[in-house]
Amino acid sequence: MNNISAQELWTRAVDAIRGEIGEEQSELWLRPVEALKLDEQILLVRVPNKYFADGIKKNFQKRLSLILKDITSREIGLDYEISRDLKDVLPANDPISDPSPQSDFPLSELNPRYTFGSFVLGDSNRFAAATAEAVSKSPGTQYNPYFIYGGVGLGKTHLMHAIGNEMRRLRPRARVLYTTSERFVNEYITCIQHNRPDDFRSKFRNLDCLLIDDIQFLIGKDRSEQEFFHTFNDLFAAKKQVVMSSDRSPKEMSPSEQRLISRFEWGVVADIKPPDLETRIAILRKKADTEGFYVPDDVILFVASNVKTNIRALEGALIRLKAFASMTGSALTVDDAKDILKDALTSESSSPVRMETIQRIVAFKYSVEVRDLKGHQRTAAIAMPRQVAMYLACVMTDLSLKEIGRSFGGKDHTTVLHAREKIRKLVDADPFFLPLINKLEADIRAVENQ
Ligand code: ADP
Ligand code: MG
Repeated sequence: MNNISAQELWTRAVDAIRGEIGEEQSELWLRPVEALKLDEQILLVRVPNKYFADGIKKNFQKRLSLILKDITSREIGLDYEISRDLKDVLPANDPISDPSPQSDFPLSELNPRYTFGSFVLGDSNRFAAATAEAVSKSPGTQYNPYFIYGGVGLGKTHLMHAIGNEMRRLRPRARVLYTTSERFVNEYITCIQHNRPDDFRSKFRNLDCLLIDDIQFLIGKDRSEQEFFHTFNDLFAAKKQVVMSSDRSPKEMSPSEQRLISRFEWGVVADIKPPDLETRIAILRKKADTEGFYVPDDVILFVASNVKTNIRALEGALIRLKAFASMTGSALTVDDAKDILKDALTSESSSPVRMETIQRIVAFKYSVEVRDLKGHQRTAAIAMPRQVAMYLACVMTDLSLKEIGRSFGGKDHTTVLHAREKIRKLVDADPFFLPLINKLEADIRAVENQ
């Protein structure tokens, strides 16, 4: 097949890989890619930003190369061109692409330090960050609405500000508003009290991009939720970007307006997980470097190994170390760090957590109901999560076996003991089980640390 065009080849390759990676992955990663040029050995494609290039290389390149070879009967490499030119990503008649410098819209405060450049990437957040950057380049398109969820202190607010900052940099006239859902509710209430609902509406419904943080506080508050629903629908219908963050996934929320949830899922939903060790090290390094603060490698490793679930806590640790170092003027050692961070470390690793959090997180993970965990059904689909929750209750709370049994619908302490031993053995024997348990622990801690 020698005379196939670049576009045709790319379309066929994407069609072929879609069957393997699924519609969703292919839409997210491959649809924004445009084939530019094909020569003997190279297919040149344009991607929205470098995260896309990295993500595609990492996740799909091997398979794509085989498919390209299948179609053309020759070895074809992929080459990436990063789209830098705004006109490539903006619709031709985009009303806000005019880069004249002032905006007549009252600017909402965006933290200038929260940018894509200062956001450290790792497997735990790469997709959320790549999508955020794509949103900022082409708002109101296929990533609309964009819903980010994840535990506390993992970078949701940072990414939302980064979207706002980047949009403003690219299009100074864009009407971008960042707000928290609490502020949204308060403003709504104030306008209603002063009998000025139209002020509220005209403010929110004339935006190019609404960034609304911690939406879990709004969901379930009847009238504010209704108002948000209308705002959302108006913006969406006008192809304006809506970005939301939450500490839980759309599926975990129970809005009074059920239609909201399906709306959230029309665009892209991305989660941010707790960072792995490597990412935690990179974040500490970057923050220390930015502040011109020298921290020896072994101290960085010590902190990164011990502060696991929350990036805000990592930053807090660094600030304390810095205060100490500037006081003593000598180089930090691991022993200093142990001493300085003693309180922070014990609260991270051993403070007891609430049973209801354990049960809620485990039930969600296994797609069962909390009442199933407390019930008596013994099918594997329920017995397993029940035992996992009991095990976690043993390691994460101060409760006795008897008390734990009682919290699971009045079970005997021997049942709890049995669960604990069974799961402990599984953790030892099955290499896939440990990460699962670690993740559950991290999610539970994240909720508890809020
Ligand atoms: P969330 O909104 O999810 O609770 P934040 O966005 O407020 O979390 O993040 C907490 C702190 O951690 C912020 O200071 C933020 O800059 C920092 N942070 C989070 N993720 C990253 C990251 N990947 N790289 C650098 N800093 C990060
Ligand atoms: Mg936040």
